[in-house]
Amino acid sequence: MTTEINWTEFYDPSITRCAMNEPRIIGNLKVATNANVLIVHPTDEPEAKFEGRFPDFESFLQPMTRITEWDDWPSETLLACSECDSIGLSECDECEGEGCPACDDCGESICGTCTTTTVEFGPVSITKLYARNISKLPRPVKWGVRADATKDAPVFFTFGSDGRGAVMGCEPHA
Ligand SMILES: [Zn+2]
Ligand SMILES: [Zn+2]
Repeated sequence: MTTEINWTEFYDPSITRCAMNEPRIIGNLKVATNANVLIVHPTDEPEAKFEGRFPDFESFLQPMTRITEWDDWPSETLLACSECDSIGLSECDECEGEGCPACDDCGESICGTCTTTTVEFGPVSITKLYARNISKLPRPVKWGVRADATKDAPVFFTFGSDGRGAVMGCEPHA
């Protein structure tokens, strides 16, 4: 039951609080979040102690159990971006070299088109960047929202045989 996920694809240099590219092993689950997106799936890897607290992801995902309608996540092709060749990152355009605050020193910044273009999931808008990254998770990927979801609600998703997650909505853009 090994699930291969390219966690680094979710890397967002603008978020430094917690990082998608540093998943935690909690019990028999592998969990990663950057506060905008959360991904959870079972793992055989041994639990590892880590510094600090981790968000209560089970409570956050609890509403999933009441969602009865699940739809197919849009395909990677539908979510393609010609601006960044669908990589999501482009060369840091304000780069100041070592210690660059614009890209947190990685030399790359998030594609502006991918972060300002949104995709609708019921009443909720998701940036193309996250929508595309989630579309690459092990299939099938399905999405659902709470019956009373507003535009600020999370979009929940399932992937593979037993993966779960959520992504936060944002302001809609054309
Ligand atoms: Zn830079
Ligand atoms: Zn892009």
